Amino acid sequence: MREKSILLEARQIQLATDLIKLGARLQVLEANTELSRERLVRLYKEIKGVSPPKGMLPYSEDWFTSWQPNVHSSLFINIYNFICKHTNIRSIDAIIKSYKLYLEHIEINHLQRILSLTRAWTLVRFLESNVLCVIPCTKCNGNFIVHSLEIHSNHVCGLCNVPSRAGKTKKVTPSAATKMKQEYAA
Ligand SMILES: [Zn+2]
Repeated sequence: MREKSILLEARQIQLATDLIKLGARLQVLEANTELSRERLVRLYKEIKGVSPPKGMLPYSEDWFTSWQPNVHSSLFINIYNFICKHTNIRSIDAIIKSYKLYLEHIEINHLQRILSLTRAWTLVRFLESNVLCVIPCTKCNGNFIVHSLEIHSNHVCGLCNVPSRAGKTKKVTPSAATKMKQEYAA
């Protein structure tokens, strides 16, 4: 019994460590481990060298539907759904795996990281509570995140209908984004 709890704790510390290294906020750690807040704060300081940021997570669901965040969030959720469909990896482990693949993908394509791990975790929660949902674009058939309450029988995604201001930021070029869309369209 004693050994078992030590092993369980070791696994929780490893999970918290992985999450901290990927940039997770304290709330994500508290929601996904049974370690005390005090221990999580100590672990965070040990890994990052600074205290975790305080305060609530400022994330509203609207962020995920604005143009550039929507492209990155949709890419992430396509990876996440792919992992859940084709492997036995679930919940926070699936989020970590998908997030690492997202990071690899944007690195290969020389894109800026727009989606943080904490936002990715928040996104999955919004989808599970049906605040947001995923629907196919009527032009390219890629899957994209939309508000559940919006009418989207004719949804055209942000890549098929790039807003004019998008060209100025250069953070996601349509061609790079189209490439990532195709890769995870399954
Ligand atoms: Zn499209």
